[in-house]
Amino acid sequence: MDPSTVILILALNLIAIGGLLAMIGRRMDDAAGMRGFATGSLVFGLAYLLRLALGHASTSLAAVLPDAAMVYATLCYATGLRQFGGRPPLGQRAIAGWTLGFATLSLACTLAWQDVGRHAVLNAGLAHNYLWLSVLATLGTRRVIGTMRWPLTVLAVITGMLGLLTAVRAVAAVSLGVQPLFNGLPAQIYYGYATITTVLLGPNLLWMVFVQLNDRLARLATHDPLTGLLNRNGLDAALDRHFGSRPAQALVLCQIDIDHFKQINDSHGHAAGDAVLQGVAGTLAAHVRGGDFVARLGGEEFLVGCCGAGLAQDQALALAERLRDALAAQSHPLAGGTSLRCTVSIGVSPAIVARSGWEAALRAADAALYQAKHAGRNRVVVAAPSV
Ligand code: GH3
Ligand code: MG
Ligand code: MG
Repeated sequence: MDPSTVILILALNLIAIGGLLAMIGRRMDDAAGMRGFATGSLVFGLAYLLRLALGHASTSLAAVLPDAAMVYATLCYATGLRQFGGRPPLGQRAIAGWTLGFATLSLACTLAWQDVGRHAVLNAGLAHNYLWLSVLATLGTRRVIGTMRWPLTVLAVITGMLGLLTAVRAVAAVSLGVQPLFNGLPAQIYYGYATITTVLLGPNLLWMVFVQLNDRLARLATHDPLTGLLNRNGLDAALDRHFGSRPAQALVLCQIDIDHFKQINDSHGHAAGDAVLQGVAGTLAAHVRGGDFVARLGGEEFLVGCCGAGLAQDQALALAERLRDALAAQSHPLAGGTSLRCTVSIGVSPAIVARSGWEAALRAADAALYQAKHAGRNRVVVAAPSV
């Protein structure tokens, strides 16, 4: 297939992907990076069409336009990828500045060295941006866990390879002239690879968005939106995981209830109550070890699962006392510059080693908590050791 036909197919493919991503992105927030991916694909496709219209080996200065558009498109991909990874976007000014800088350099080199200058600058600029995309995707794989690693790894590999091949083209333009860029086996290999990259890019971006949405749904189903702690579903899953591992470590439950929480709501308002719940949740999460878990059972009631091989109730009691102390010392800021403190009562269950003991342990922790409330609150009560 001659390069012009390949370029036409690539252009149409990119425009179709861009349109599809734009339609999908219309209902998603910006954080998904979809706008960047959609704009990048559309602009890249249009740039290819413009280049075809001008003739790909055009010596006219107008050829700077599609070249700058391609650089702009890769920067859009980069901003989309940054947003996708939870980083701030590049900003329109930065993207425009980079593109303008490239266009100026490209014009200067085209005036000085004609086609060789133009293609050397274009391929060097694109190679830089492709390799940057590859680095962004690689960094992304380090920040995420689970299934998202796969599409990011594919993206890192395909853009990294494209970056290297494009860098070779930049060197070839300088050392061999522009003819080998469009004719001969190396050119066919390059366009063949670029075609594969373009064909893979769209489904890969959709794969990333799909995995991200799936992860968000799974998180919504298993976490409490106010505090970010596990909810009942998440707690069930954590227990399944804990007792599913062999041999399962002993587990002690600490059931925690904020004292006189209703008064906080009544005196300072529901929003202040919510802020206290968030503050308490943060302190609980900060005080437990890696294997332990913290859940919000509902209202102002929390559960800490304390795990450890040969864990005894007195170790859990020590943790419960540390939690009670930390929470009593915590100051919750209020609107107007004031703050409030609150205390908690805690019931500690006996240690259990099997999933079947969970219901009885929860009942025992609940009963111990009830005793703590009746004994005057702001205290820890340990349940009788038999479950
Ligand atoms: P005790 O010391 O006996 O535990 O008394 P308490 O006031 O803490 O307990 P009570 O069960 O009487 O009141 C709990 C309050 O928690 C009542 C409810 O309005 C409030 N609450 C439940 N969920 C939320 C929430 O998500 N946000 C806020 N702000 N309040 C909540
Ligand atoms: Mg309470
Ligand atoms: Mg309660």
